[in-house]
Amino acid sequence: MVRFAYAAFRPELALVRESAAETYPGPAVRADEIEDLADRIATLSAHIAAVTHELLMLIAEFDRLRGWEPAGYADCARWLAARTGIDVHAAREKVRAARALTGLPLTSAAMARGEISFSKVRALTRVATVESEGDLLELARGTTAAQLERVVRGWKRGTRRDEAECERRRHASRTLSIFPDEDGMYVIRGRLTPEVAAACMRAVEAASDALYREEHVPGVPESEGAAARRRADALGLLAERALAAGFQGVPVSGSRAERYQVVLHVDPETLAAEGEPGRSELEDGTRVSAETSRRISCDTGLVRVAHGPDGSVLDVGRKTRTIPPALRRALESRDRGCRFPGCGLRFTDAHHVVHWADGGATSLTNCLLLCRHHHRLVHEGGWTVQWWGDGRAVFIDARGGTHFDGR
Ligand SMILES: [Zn+2]
Ligand SMILES: [Zn+2]
Repeated sequence: MVRFAYAAFRPELALVRESAAETYPGPAVRADEIEDLADRIATLSAHIAAVTHELLMLIAEFDRLRGWEPAGYADCARWLAARTGIDVHAAREKVRAARALTGLPLTSAAMARGEISFSKVRALTRVATVESEGDLLELARGTTAAQLERVVRGWKRGTRRDEAECERRRHASRTLSIFPDEDGMYVIRGRLTPEVAAACMRAVEAASDALYREEHVPGVPESEGAAARRRADALGLLAERALAAGFQGVPVSGSRAERYQVVLHVDPETLAAEGEPGRSELEDGTRVSAETSRRISCDTGLVRVAHGPDGSVLDVGRKTRTIPPALRRALESRDRGCRFPGCGLRFTDAHHVVHWADGGATSLTNCLLLCRHHHRLVHEGGWTVQWWGDGRAVFIDARGGTHFDGR
């Protein structure tokens, strides 16, 4: 039957191919010519659906015979991707739809006749059973592929027991991992339940708004790259706030002033402004730049770890250089947020104007508050900040330009 459907379409396919060589007639084209063109597009699309159906039937048969096995592939989708040059996700969808179609005679026949597209078949085969396919097919004919996708997402899957089993399997597949890449950055990958994902997205959005309320003008679309970078910063804020708030009422890392604790293994020479960069790495061995070490150690509970010449740990000292809670309160009441001109964000680090590694005091006169973004700017970004007369801060950019804060 499949072969018949394909053969029946052949003469028309030839017709379309011939006429495609004609040149487009330009603006003087008549309405009926447009209509004709539209018909031909629709007809060819139907042919493509029918031919795709034939392809799916062949794939289903190949899969049933485990034809991919002798070729050394782990499954049919991988073989299909390699053999036909499509990406493996597309191949998986084809194999899945092909298997499903063998148990759905009405859907299979409709696609063979070119009545429904592969996009619709793909959506429909996710939920259809022999009992429900008639209703779903009716629905598929009257909706767009996108509408059908939405309906299918909310469609009850099989019997109650099937549904529970399916839900159990989906739930068991939840996962989250964070791992370093070869560039010294970290990659997060995971699969979340819809409710956890929704909570995460709302939280990231809220944190992003809090971090960037000054910069982002509502109603003005921003690039996806900028939005993605904001989400990455927002995740950092979320983690920090969660640790500060703690769980079961107990903050994870002690007082607010203690912040979260990042263990940094760093040589004293690396931290000094003029020192040669030596060892500078996070607990898991990820190397960070000397200036990043200076920024992190600027306002973090830093644990002094003495190392022997062979790198072994000799002594773990007390936590040092923590901004005491009283000093942080004083800084917050004086600075009222980030001191960078025009910023004022409330989520801040305490920056040492003269770094403590260079002999600067952890005191009200040597510290000021900067948001994470501007703190990074004065360390890694090549800016500096100095005091100007009676307590005004002057920010000097990488080219020597001066910017005064408004106080
Ligand atoms: Zn700093
Ligand atoms: Zn700022």
